[in-house]
Amino acid sequence: MANFSLSVFFFLQTIKQEREEERGATFRTSLKCIFCGREYEISPHREDGKLNHRFQCINPSCVSKHKWIYGSLELQYDYEQLKEEVNLQDLFGSKPQSMWHYKKLLPVATALTLGEGATSMIYSERLVSELDIKEPMLKYEGTNPTGSFKDRESAVAVSRALEIGAKGVACVSSGNAAASLASYAAHAGLSCLVFTPTDASIEKQRFVQFAGARLVTVDGIFEDVWELVNRNPNRDLSISKNVFSSYYDCNPALNPYRSEGDKTTAYEIYSELQSVPDWVVIPIGNGSNLVGIWKGFKELQSLGVSNYLPRILGVQVYNADPIAEAWRQCKDQSVRIESPADSVAEGIVAKDSYDAPRALRALKESNGVVASVTDGETLEHLFLCMRREGIFLEPTSATVLAAAQKMKQEGVISLDDRVVFVLTGSGLKTMDTMVRENMKDKAAELYERVSAQVRI
Ligand SMILES: [Zn+2]
Repeated sequence: MANFSLSVFFFLQTIKQEREEERGATFRTSLKCIFCGREYEISPHREDGKLNHRFQCINPSCVSKHKWIYGSLELQYDYEQLKEEVNLQDLFGSKPQSMWHYKKLLPVATALTLGEGATSMIYSERLVSELDIKEPMLKYEGTNPTGSFKDRESAVAVSRALEIGAKGVACVSSGNAAASLASYAAHAGLSCLVFTPTDASIEKQRFVQFAGARLVTVDGIFEDVWELVNRNPNRDLSISKNVFSSYYDCNPALNPYRSEGDKTTAYEIYSELQSVPDWVVIPIGNGSNLVGIWKGFKELQSLGVSNYLPRILGVQVYNADPIAEAWRQCKDQSVRIESPADSVAEGIVAKDSYDAPRALRALKESNGVVASVTDGETLEHLFLCMRREGIFLEPTSATVLAAAQKMKQEGVISLDDRVVFVLTGSGLKTMDTMVRENMKDKAAELYERVSAQVRI
């Protein structure tokens, strides 16, 4: 009997120790639905069974609202405990070496990392006159391991996949998320399955294949691929159930761990400036990056680190801009664009931005605004940034410079405002797009125009 009691005692001690170790590593508490408030338990070793591998709130009203394919869950933390145990002044007063500098505010106990985050923040003196803004600051995400902000998301999502013992990861992507997930899966020793549009840049597709991931291409844009994978014509989810019960679901706008990586961009902006800027300008595809960055700024406020919030300028491309259209119509859901325009900014061409409800809410809370830009405006600013700052952006990133210039001209942004531009990725994975036959004349003309403006 004594031996039995001793065994039980040691068993309970082991559980207590494991929980304390887990507790000490992360302050996460639950996954909470932003619409109905329902909370789902987070276990160190599995996702809540009710979520059925898909991170979808099972409340019937949420299911119908989101057509079975949108995510609405957000990570929750014990902020009070965190304030007691972590020296926030030290944390946000020092420069990060990687985004894991903020590990206490991330939802995994063990980090899988390729050195993501801690990206460059450049005060762009040479763009002051073009943008007519005194303090334009470039948060250049192209210095991440695979050249885009998606590495922040992949690092957290794949860390979680490892934590729960997944054997593989999968996602739908317009290109950058696929390339990133493939790299992190390779680094983790996991299999990887990604779905991209057939027209995704050839560099991104090769990147995925070189990393050993399985690539499935589908005709159409991001949402066409998503809908094929996430629901069949009968909407019975048969495809997704098969895929995502075998692979850990790392879909943007659905897997809530991804946006936790994005929020570290806000932390880094604060750590660099030791304050919050007046504006943060972010390109919007499905809206998840904007949602994550906004969550980061709100956490800084609720933790008492900063005492105010920035305004957000979200940017889409003309005629492929369901969030901008919703904004113009004062709707709280995206306004579907049935035939979205083709655009050089392939990363944000959208017909039904899946994180629109959260993105629109963030834009409202921030007293922000949404702007749409043309390809001509985007390319002009792409070449301008290359010529003025030597930074080769992918077209999606250049949209933010074009949008800010417009908003300055319209009087929304002021000359004295401090503006941070989130430049989401390097142009090196879109080189082929830039020299495509049908762009040659346009590119040459814009290049000449920008070159003529540049003072030697
Ligand atoms: Zn719900």
